Amino acid sequence: MRNPHAGEPFATSDEDIALALADLSIPTLMLSLVHMSGDPELIRGRLRPAGLFLNEVQGYMTEEDKAEVRALALPIIARYRDQGCPEPEPVPAGLLHEMMTWLVCEDVPAEYVPMLMEEMELDGSDVRKVEPVADASVRQAFPVVVIGCGQSGLLAGIRLQEAGIPFTIIEKNDGVGGTWWENSYPGARVDVGNHFYCYSFEPSDAWTEFFAQQPELQAYFESVMTRHGIGASVRWGTEVLGAAWDDDSATWSVRTRGPDGGEETLVARAVISAVGQLNRPHTPEIPGQDDFVGPAFHSARWDHTVDLTDRRVAMIGAGASGFQIAPTIAPDVEHLTVFQRTAQWMFPNPNYHEVVGPGVRWALRHLPFYGRWYRFLLFWPGCDKGLEAARVDPDYPDQQRAVSETNELTRQMFTDWITSQVGDDPDLIAKVVPDYPATGKRTLQDNGSWLRTLTRDNVDLVRTGIDHIEDDAVVTEDGERHPADVLVYATGFHANRVLWPMEITGRGGNDLRSLWGERPAAYLGITVPGFPNLFCMYGPGTNLAHGGSLIFHSECQMRYITQCLDVLIGEGHRSMEPKQERYDDWHQRSQREMRTLVWSQPSVKHSFFKNAYGEIHVLSPWRLVDYWTWTKELDVGDFEFR
Ligand code: NAP
Repeated sequence: MRNPHAGEPFATSDEDIALALADLSIPTLMLSLVHMSGDPELIRGRLRPAGLFLNEVQGYMTEEDKAEVRALALPIIARYRDQGCPEPEPVPAGLLHEMMTWLVCEDVPAEYVPMLMEEMELDGSDVRKVEPVADASVRQAFPVVVIGCGQSGLLAGIRLQEAGIPFTIIEKNDGVGGTWWENSYPGARVDVGNHFYCYSFEPSDAWTEFFAQQPELQAYFESVMTRHGIGASVRWGTEVLGAAWDDDSATWSVRTRGPDGGEETLVARAVISAVGQLNRPHTPEIPGQDDFVGPAFHSARWDHTVDLTDRRVAMIGAGASGFQIAPTIAPDVEHLTVFQRTAQWMFPNPNYHEVVGPGVRWALRHLPFYGRWYRFLLFWPGCDKGLEAARVDPDYPDQQRAVSETNELTRQMFTDWITSQVGDDPDLIAKVVPDYPATGKRTLQDNGSWLRTLTRDNVDLVRTGIDHIEDDAVVTEDGERHPADVLVYATGFHANRVLWPMEITGRGGNDLRSLWGERPAAYLGITVPGFPNLFCMYGPGTNLAHGGSLIFHSECQMRYITQCLDVLIGEGHRSMEPKQERYDDWHQRSQREMRTLVWSQPSVKHSFFKNAYGEIHVLSPWRLVDYWTWTKELDVGDFEFR
């Protein structure tokens, strides 16, 4: 079978190829040319990318150099076409490493190469998939319940199906996508490049925008679900209320409430929680909010029946959601007042709203490994560099301003860009430049749309605290009334209440919520002592603030979980749970590490990463390459089996 990443054969005319080339990432194209021609000298000459920055997919090449590459590419592609588009010969490992280094203009350390090779799957294999173990009859006696059908729950279903393990997915919504089902607010889009923000084994050449909007993301998950035939195993509109472990039968009883309100209990040998961390909306309690007479709703519960045209809208909160909503609704509303407690750091991403040209889609479909190298080009700049940049230098003098010299340079770069977008209005500049270290909260990226929106005549940014809400206005602490017809809470989620509000009781009736309180922890973010055969995806300590993609993390987690299930089933164990000392050690090390990073700094006052004690238990403080290594192969010595 032809390697799917070698592209579909084509008969495109020279003219149409030339048109397509105009859309492409030229450095990525050059690597595809190496595959097509088998000639590595193509990347050993003068024509090469000049630098690396997240989403700068042209490597800062000059227009002249790009034109030169297009000119030399056309005959190579035409020859490849005329030869019938043969599947290229595999490229030797040394050359692949050279190609990686060439594309990103810096050494790619050897320890990263195996992870990147796996992520790119150049050989067309999907090594994260686990083949079935044991007889089908043995596997059939091991039903698994998956809670949630967002990106991680769907992945769980796909992998369980491949492993031949029977499963049921319980999903509270009526469709697939999780976050990408629920967050349908105007302007909702992903901020990780989509050609990387998709399953490694399900690349899409169909994205219409580089950072797709919610409907397209939801449709992607829908199409993957359909292709893998997972939908029939999902109970839609059904919420898991709780799950209880029974030691005698070594089973979980999973209590659900269906669309008709009826409760039912499913019995499972293992439970995979794939509920995400950001799906229980947080709406702050503000005096008088119930008196507000107009429509009021949370960003994740957008009321699409409310027409905002010519209405006065008050939006409370402006983090990652609010800063997408404001530019989208501002042109239509009469007035928009944005109440923002803390200014946000952000950096430029000129492609943020760009559409994917037809040439890119053609190349992704037809040019050998173009899509794979493009994926790598999006992944690498966000692969662990953000973690080193987040490291606190305790000797750095002004920790309120910056936590290290690197962090100070980041501050200057971000500040320059922010101020360049808002003109010379000193009041606005004072409001939009944060007063805490750069990257201390989840960093946003933009093409200037948010900052430009704030300069509109019909938009006000209010940084004064809210005192109370009246029937038709929000009143700030300075006594000013801000009239409003519609109230939008873009105030985030209960991120620290992991697995909440489900009641999970483990061995001996121990309640997970009481165990965790505000300090959720799981070994590798996946397993918890006393809660046998319970596996978390996107569990405690696995959210990412330093780059990568949650889909990458999910794929690491699900490979590990499938290996756990393999051992449980293949070796006939009743249950497994992590050894207490491994769990404690993991949590203590993670906490120690977390305290060395910018997100923990006291100068960052408001952050959904922090719990009530100012500690961070939801984020990963680890390099992606370490997490990949630790989850690649299950160490059975970490577990107690019964
Ligand atoms: P968020 O980042 O937590 O922002 C919540 C906003 O509400 C902040 O401005 C916050 O102020 C404010 N707020 C919260 N409680 C408040 C209170 N009591 N009084 C006044 N203001 C209050 O939530 P989000 O914007 O929904 O984003 C959550 C996460 O979802 C993101 O970090 C990201 O991981 C994900 N997300 C991703 C995308 C994307 O990929 N493009 C888009 C949307 C969301 P403070 O900053 O002062 O706390």
